[in-house]
Amino acid sequence: MSYQSVNPFNNQKLKDYPSHSDQDIQNALDTAEQILKSEWSQQVDTRIDVLRKLASNMRERKSELAKLMALDMGKLIKQGEGEIESCARIAEYYANHAKEFLAPVSYETELGEAWVEHHPLGIIMAVEPWNFPFYQLMRVFAPNCAIGNPVLAKHASIVPQCAEAFEQLIIDAGAPRGVWTNLFINSDQVADIIADPRVQGVALTGSEGAGRAVAGQAGKHVTKSTLELGGNDVFIVLDDADLEKAIKIGCQARINNAGQVCTAAKRFILHENIAEEFKAGMVKVFKDLKVGDPLDPETQLGPLSSSDALEKLTEQVENAVKNGATLVTGGKPVDHDGNFYEPTILENISRDNPAWYEEFFGPVAQLYVAKSEDEIVAIANDSHYGLGGVIHSQNIERAKKLASRVETGMIWINWYTDTAPELPFGGIKNSGYGHELSIDGFKEFAQKKLVVVKSPKK
Ligand code: NAP
Repeated sequence: MSYQSVNPFNNQKLKDYPSHSDQDIQNALDTAEQILKSEWSQQVDTRIDVLRKLASNMRERKSELAKLMALDMGKLIKQGEGEIESCARIAEYYANHAKEFLAPVSYETELGEAWVEHHPLGIIMAVEPWNFPFYQLMRVFAPNCAIGNPVLAKHASIVPQCAEAFEQLIIDAGAPRGVWTNLFINSDQVADIIADPRVQGVALTGSEGAGRAVAGQAGKHVTKSTLELGGNDVFIVLDDADLEKAIKIGCQARINNAGQVCTAAKRFILHENIAEEFKAGMVKVFKDLKVGDPLDPETQLGPLSSSDALEKLTEQVENAVKNGATLVTGGKPVDHDGNFYEPTILENISRDNPAWYEEFFGPVAQLYVAKSEDEIVAIANDSHYGLGGVIHSQNIERAKKLASRVETGMIWINWYTDTAPELPFGGIKNSGYGHELSIDGFKEFAQKKLVVVKSPKK
């Protein structure tokens, strides 16, 4: 795969990037190994300083970094600035908690004095997607910086400007070279890196296919992995929901980032009593959306990330309709240069329609109508994925009970599936395993060493 920046607004090529060679990879592994053996891995205060400086540098350069995302993958400028703020908060969170998370944890045992220490695990390989070009990298960088693990990173081939900028930001924050190494490499080279015994962890965020391939390689070499994969998240609206709020939040949860969010609301399961009203509200919002240039602050819906993404989504919707689904609105690319797709609503999707189980990575909402909570749960759980989900109801106790029955890694009540540095993020089923963010994300790649001082009495 060649690394190219192509503006999704008009498909103009902006820049080509040469790939890294196998020798470059060996050099990167050697440098990372030196980092691991250097004072970097021993001096938590230095690492905390880098995280704090990184946060403040990113905030200062917010507009410039947001523009890079708009040019590489079409993110709206306002959403890009929001992403940079999220990155700064993650860096600060791990800076604030690094010492606490690294501290030994005592365990009660009759055998004596016991504790678990936290040490760097080794070199980490990160494979990351384009949809949040800085945030996804920060989710791996910040906890591993706090631990002291150097990271080799393969970013998606369509966001090379962001990949390069992130590496430079880390160097500008005072980290030595090798703490984070960006590599423009292909899948085979990723496999070669995973095969290197110095690599002790693999963090992948991306599609199910990439997850299967990379986790298979990690398994072969007995290397720890975490997988943050796709989702087909439900947005459940009960008959007692605040409907105006549910429509507003639901539409935003579907079209944010042009619908290219792993935890976007994708399947709307509506109680039959409010289904028609919700649908009418959603149609109005979708029809009024201002589609346009991501660099224009007035734009509400930008282009998809690439012409391949547009082609895939177009085929998926056509196939859904061929298999019996009905279009409520939208259903084709926008008649405009670039990779724009109409805000689209599909209904009458039956279980034998491939669309039932597919992830639509774009502004396409699927509507399902249910008569009861049992039926809502049956539809929600009939999915290969289990990432996030949402329930809207004014009866919080009722929503909590329902939340326990939905098979996902995360459920939010009366909101959209959101994220915060202090909250664990991760899915179940084919949405992957392991967590990022919070103390859980920190512990994924910390070496946990048990030490026991045997009591002489036993
Ligand atoms: P993708 O095609 O799987 O790409 C993700 C990354 O994996 C890219 O860097 C890609 O490189 C690389 N890759 C693909 N196949 C590989 C292989 N066999 N070996 C090594 N690396 C490989 O996914 P995407 O289309 O960019 O991203 C969208 C998917 O990511 C969606 O399914 C979305 O739901 C999911 N996602 C999940 C989360 C989460 O936290 N759960 C967050 C964001 C996105 P190239 O670009 O060079 O192909």
